[in-house]
Amino acid sequence: MAKVPVKSQREIALMRESGRIVAEALALVGGHVRPGVSTRELDALAEEFIRSQGGIPAFKGYGPDRRNAFPATLCVSIDDVVVHGIPDGRRLEEGEIVSVDVGVKKNGWFGDGAKTFPVGRINEEKARLLKVTEEALEKGIAQARAGNKLHDVSSAVQRHVEAAGYAVVRDLVGHGIGKNLHEDPAVPNFGVPGTGVLLREDMTLAIEPMVNAGTFAVRLDEDGWTVRTADGRPSAHFEHTVAITQGEAEILTRHG
Ligand code: MG
Repeated sequence: MAKVPVKSQREIALMRESGRIVAEALALVGGHVRPGVSTRELDALAEEFIRSQGGIPAFKGYGPDRRNAFPATLCVSIDDVVVHGIPDGRRLEEGEIVSVDVGVKKNGWFGDGAKTFPVGRINEEKARLLKVTEEALEKGIAQARAGNKLHDVSSAVQRHVEAAGYAVVRDLVGHGIGKNLHEDPAVPNFGVPGTGVLLREDMTLAIEPMVNAGTFAVRLDEDGWTVRTADGRPSAHFEHTVAITQGEAEILTRHG
């Protein structure tokens, strides 16, 4: 089984700072989500803020394929886009939902967080999807404590989502985080309770339910990044970076 790094108090303090910038960037962007704003405008806002805080946008230039690195600060994923949408001139429209994912590196340490925002007034189905996904993140975090197993987190997310009649995405997962944006362990949003690595104090994880209103199946656009639901129904995404303790996890990307 993969070796999971444990952080020192000094390292967690550095991640707290990166997490603060993530949280404030998300709050700033959320305050500008409205019909008519372009996703590129939101991206510019986030990048300027992150750099003003001494941070570096962690997603820009990231990717397994150097010839097709992610080109922006934010992943901006509208409606049926699950994750990794690329900001462009497209303007948000009333009734859409938009998932905003942001990663920050500062002093060599990473923070990662995401939130799905309503654009103006949204319908009942989308409102419920947002609520259930955010609750699923909370249920997962509640299981993220020293002495539990990793898949206690995963199964708590899955159970809440499936009880609501929705599906967790299988092809994409959360992750360990620290000196790397993505490190061990993988943090799936499905699994069998009591299995997976033992959670220990001072592990740091990015827990991120991606929840589809319909089928769990997804497909990748030709741009190599944009992940959509296979059935075209909406999807939501909430993410926090947390530090494991003996009690409740410390949420490093919590705002305010
Ligand atoms: Mg992440």
